[in-house]
This record gives sequence, structure tokens and C-alpha cells, in this order.
Amino acid sequence: MAKWQRNPTGRIAYVNGRYLPHAEAGVHIEDRALQLGDGIYEVTNVIGGKPIDEEPHLDRMERSLRELGIAMPMGRAALKLVMREMIARNRIANGLLYLQVTRGAARRDHVPPKNPPRPTLIITMRAQDMAALAQRMEKGIAVSTQPDIRWGRCDIKTVQLLPNLLAKQAAKQASAFEAWLVDDDGYVTEGGSTNAWIVDAKGTVITRDLSNAILPGVTRKIMLEAMKEAQISVVERKFTVAEALAAKEAFITSATGAALPVVVIDGQTIGDGVPGALSRRIRDLYAEKAGIN
Ligand code: PLP
Repeated sequence: MAKWQRNPTGRIAYVNGRYLPHAEAGVHIEDRALQLGDGIYEVTNVIGGKPIDEEPHLDRMERSLRELGIAMPMGRAALKLVMREMIARNRIANGLLYLQVTRGAARRDHVPPKNPPRPTLIITMRAQDMAALAQRMEKGIAVSTQPDIRWGRCDIKTVQLLPNLLAKQAAKQASAFEAWLVDDDGYVTEGGSTNAWIVDAKGTVITRDLSNAILPGVTRKIMLEAMKEAQISVVERKFTVAEALAAKEAFITSATGAALPVVVIDGQTIGDGVPGALSRRIRDLYAEKAGIN
């Protein structure tokens, strides 16, 4: 597998048209993402050298940019070529590909300039620790509930991740792998960087319905399609922390980890305390649909 032997010269990053050694790549200090969090991002899983769920990720990226009035930095076909070039240059078969687009560099002012600067496009890659991921899938993870202090447009995948960061940090301190964010009415919105799901006593899968309160996860979307095709009973609605604690199974979904079973919430065991059968089945259905072998 010489093709996938890690590039001996190290990781390569892409910034505004140039492929650079990761350690030397940078953006201008007045980039609006650095100054104001004025940018968006996407993350796709790469397996066997292939970006997973690529089209829906690029659809969401275009939507996030449209919502903020930032132009696409290049056409979709060109972007796909650059993504492939990054996979080839980094020689990473199984990893994560990060796309970041900012409004660009401009004299600092909250209001975006009338003549828009060239958007900044950053692409980075890193290998995924497949053994650690497999262990999490096998054993399940713990989550810790945290107040959802994020802004009102969580449906846009922006780089303003400070509230998410604080929640995930608090979860880690509570020995949990992920935070579940809870709104003012006591309902779980989603995870700090994942969507949240439970399975009730009757075997119905429940996940929060789409609104400004959650990110429309690409993995969530493909997973829902896979469940409907397999005639698994699923509803998109709010659920409370109490419902989650009483659930038969729970899991989280994201491009970085597909579906990871949740076996502990706030220190309390969920179901039998081991990954549930339905969560596993859903994960397998998703893998088949997403073309992950
Ligand atoms: N929710 C949030 C807040 C996220 O940051 C993410 C991924 O980063 C997700 C959900 C899962 O989305 P996806 O399945 O597209 O990775």
C-alpha cells in the first residue's frame, strides 16, 4: 500500500490556491474568521481515500455560505478536484477532511465591506485513529448534559464554536466523551459536535426535528433515509433529559464517528449499559448506504 504510506514530507494544507506544508500554512491576521468568527466550515469523513457523503456536505456548505452572504470560493467541480488532490498529497486513506471558508481578510469592522474581499478557503486533513474509534463503537460512550448557550441560528455551520467548546470541555471534566446541550425548556437539542438520538421502550427512534436550534447533520439525514428504507420506526421531535435517561438505547451521529452508542448520561446507565442492538443495526445500514465497507 505504498500509495497510502504517510507523506514523508508531512501533512499538506491548502490555502487560497496553494498546497503548503501544514506547519507553514497560514491566513492573514485580519481574516474575518479570526477577528469575528465570520466563516463557515464542513467536515467529511474519508474512507479508503473517498470522501463520504460528499454531495450533502457540499450542499450544506453552499447553504451556510448563502445564509451569510459569502460567495463560494470556487465552483463545486473544482472544489471536488482540490479535495481529491489533498487526499492524494496527504496520502491519508482513512481520515477527516476539513473545509473552512471565511469572508476573507479586510480592515476590521463588524459590518462586512461593501466590496467583498476574496473568501479565504482552507482545507486541512488528518488521519483518524481507527482503533480508538472502533473501541468507542464497541464499548459505547458517556455524555454529560450542559446548558445550550449557543446563538439562535445553530442551523448554520459557522466557525463560532466557543459555546460548543465550553460545553465539550465541561463534559470532558465530567469524564464524558460528548456534551448534550439542553435548551431552556429542558429539551435536548443536540451534541456539542454531533446529533443526539434515543430509542424509546417501544423501539421507536427519536431525534430532534430540524429547526434553527440544531445543525442539520449530514449523517443524521443519511441515517434517517436508511432507517425509513429499512422500515424502522422513527420520529423527529424534541425529547427531554428525563426521556433520555429512561431510554432503551441512545447514540450520537456525525461525519467523524458515524453512530456512536451512548451508554451513560450524566453518570446514569442507559438501558443495559452496553451498546444497543438497534444502534448497531442503524450504524450498519448507514455504512452500507454511505458506501463504507
Ligand atoms: N451538530 C453539531 C453542532 C455539529 O458540529 C456536527 C458536526 O460537526 C453535527 C451535529 C453532525 O453533523 P454531520 O453529521 O454533518 O457531521
